[in-house]
Amino acid sequence: MRFHSTRDRTVSATLGETLTAGVAADGGLYVPERLPRVSPDDFPPGDGLDRMASTLLRPFTEGDPLDAHLEAVCGRAFNFPAPLVRLSGAPGPASVLELFHGPTCAFKDFGARFLAAGLECTHGRNGKLTILVATSGDTGGAVAAAFHRAPWADVVLLYPKGRVSPRQAHQLACWDENVRTFAVLGTFDDCQRMVKEAFRDPGLARVCRLSSANSINLGRLLPQMAYYADASLRIWRGEGRKPNFIVPTGNLGNATACALAREIGLPIGDIVLATNENRTIVDYFERGVWEPRDAIATLSSAMDVGNPSNFERLRWLFPDAQRLRSRLTAQAVSDRQVRETIRSDEARLHRVWCPHSATAACVYWRLPEKRRDEHWVLVATAHPAKFSEVIEPLIGRTVPVPPALAALLQLPRREQDLPPRLDALREELRGSSAGSR
Ligand SMILES: *Cc1c(COP(=O)(O)O)cnc(C)c1O
Repeated sequence: MRFHSTRDRTVSATLGETLTAGVAADGGLYVPERLPRVSPDDFPPGDGLDRMASTLLRPFTEGDPLDAHLEAVCGRAFNFPAPLVRLSGAPGPASVLELFHGPTCAFKDFGARFLAAGLECTHGRNGKLTILVATSGDTGGAVAAAFHRAPWADVVLLYPKGRVSPRQAHQLACWDENVRTFAVLGTFDDCQRMVKEAFRDPGLARVCRLSSANSINLGRLLPQMAYYADASLRIWRGEGRKPNFIVPTGNLGNATACALAREIGLPIGDIVLATNENRTIVDYFERGVWEPRDAIATLSSAMDVGNPSNFERLRWLFPDAQRLRSRLTAQAVSDRQVRETIRSDEARLHRVWCPHSATAACVYWRLPEKRRDEHWVLVATAHPAKFSEVIEPLIGRTVPVPPALAALLQLPRREQDLPPRLDALREELRGSSAGSR
C-alpha cells in the first residue's frame, strides 16, 4: 500500500517513509491510496490488543519493509491495556474506554510508542534522528517516554512555560540522556512556529536530521484505530449491536482514527466529537464554513486547538461536505460545564474524569432520552491525576496517583528556559549535535 498527500496524489510514500517525513513535501497530510475492507470475522475473538492491531494494520504495510516487523512493533506499542469499563449508574448502557494506562497516562502513549518502534525498524540504522516536538502538555511526555534511551534518536521538547499543568510539566522535564526539555518563554503557538522554522532552516539541516512526532504523523494516527476496533468488536460480539462513540477532540487525530476504523468496516455506530470552547469544528458542522482561529486557553488544555490539522484528513475521507456532516456530529462544552460534570459524576457515578474526558461525559448527559437505549462509549483520554489542581478542589478529595505517574514524579526535573526564537533553538541544537559526535 502507498500513501499520498491530501493535496497531490502524485506525492507518495510507503508507511515506513511517512514515519520519518511526518508531513508530505507539499505540506499536505499523508493518507492511504485506497481504503482496505475488514470484517469482524477477520479478528480472532481471543486476540489481545497487540494482535488485533497487527491484523488491522496489515493491509497498510503491504509491500513495505515495515511489514516484516509489524507484529513486533505492535507488541511494543500495545503493551498496556485499553479496558472497556461498564459505567454503572448511567441512565442506559454505557461504557468508558480508558486510554490512560500507558507510561504517561494519556492516549498519546499508543501512537508515540508505535511511532518509536516503527522508526527504529525503518530508520534505526541510518544515523541519528533528532525528534523535535512542540507540545501543549501530553504529546511531549508520551514522545519522551517512547524514545527515551533509543541510541538512534535525540529528542528535543519545547513546551510553553507555565501553561501546562504542574504534573504535566514534571512529566516533560524528568528525562535524561537523549531527551532535552526546553521551557519556552512564550505560548504553544510560539513553540509550534519555532519547530516549523527549524525544519525550514538550511543551517540546521547541515548539523542534524530533524524529524517530527506530532499528531499528523501517520505513525501516530493509524495505530489509534486499534482500540476502537477492540472496543467495538467486544460490544458487537456481546450484544449484537454497534456502539456509538463520544470522542474528546482537539487536533482531530483521535476522532479521525475512529472515523477511519468505521469506514474500513468495524462495527461502529455514531461518532460524536466533544470539543471545549475551541469550537472551530462545531461551527463548521452548524454553518458549513471552515473558520480556523486562535486557540482559547481552557481547562482541557490538550484540546486547545483553533485550527485542527487533521480536518484535512476528514475532508479526504468525506469529500462531500454534506456526507461529512451526516457521518459525524460535534458539540462544544464550556469550562463551567466541565467543572459541573466532574463534580456531579463523582457523586452520581463514582467516576472521576480528567478535564478532557469530562467533555465527552457532558455530551453524554445531553443525549435525548430516546437515544439512551443505545450503547454509548465515552472515550477517556487522560488520567485525572495528571490534573489534580483542577480536579481535587471540585471533588473535595485527592485523586490516587497511578504507579507509572508516581514513578516519573519522583525523578528530578531537568530543563532549560529558552527565548521563543529560532536563533536560540538553533544554538542549542548545534551544541548538542556537536557534543554527541
Ligand atoms: C491530545 C489530547 C486530546 C485531543 O486529541 P486530538 O487527537 O488532538 O483530537 C484529548 N485529550 C487528551 C488528554 C489529549 O492529550
